[in-house]
Amino acid sequence: MRKKIAAGNWKMNKTYDEGIALAKAIIDNANPGDNLVIFCTPFVHLKAVSDLVKNVPNIHTAAQNCSEHESGAYTGETSVDMIKSVGADYVVIGHSERRQYHEEDNELLAAKVDLILEKGLKPIYCCGESLEIREIGSHVEFVGSQLLEGLFHLSAEEFSKVVIAYEPIWAIGTGVTASPAQAQEMQKELRQLIATQYGSEVADNTTILYGGSVKPANAKELFACPDVDGGLVGGASLKADSFVDIIHSF
Ligand code: PEP
Repeated sequence: MRKKIAAGNWKMNKTYDEGIALAKAIIDNANPGDNLVIFCTPFVHLKAVSDLVKNVPNIHTAAQNCSEHESGAYTGETSVDMIKSVGADYVVIGHSERRQYHEEDNELLAAKVDLILEKGLKPIYCCGESLEIREIGSHVEFVGSQLLEGLFHLSAEEFSKVVIAYEPIWAIGTGVTASPAQAQEMQKELRQLIATQYGSEVADNTTILYGGSVKPANAKELFACPDVDGGLVGGASLKADSFVDIIHSF
């Protein structure tokens, strides 16, 4: 049975004190039941928020990126071992902002996925198309190739540890949300691709999140789609009330 997840991507927001206050306010009111909540914090907050959730059932933390290198002379980078050592369980990789501003491609992400899994953490692998690609009708093919090139080298056992976040670029931070039908169409296609690669049991157990202007007003409708297993939430995860509402939208 796949897990439902509400993941909050803080991006580069919140000072240290603001972040801790936000996490505390959400933890106090989250009551996620059997679902998972994941705080995707900046590195600066990761140890403190991981400590806050250590004994809280079903609440975890994620880094927003990691180096593809194990260790060494890579000034400014953060290794998977470092992330693991502060208590995070997940690493977000391939966010469209990383793909766009840091030129991360599927090949690089495949190396990061390998390292994350080798170290015993779980990747949250982001994928999604630009408006241009959607308008020419190649979106399913394009996102499919992001899975193929970034993930499908994994064994079925390795793949079963991956969370996928489908995030159409045109919906991220824009206030324009994909309609539930658009999210469902893509996420059903992705699940079918996974089934073709790994079989229907693995596909049925894969959590596929939707991301792109999820907010309290649309979360229920999106999460009701059969292939939408929750959300990767940016802007609306920065206010305790709105993220708690989203957590309670399953
Ligand atoms: C994101 O940060 O991945 C995201 C989807 O942002 P927003 O919810 O603000 O569109």
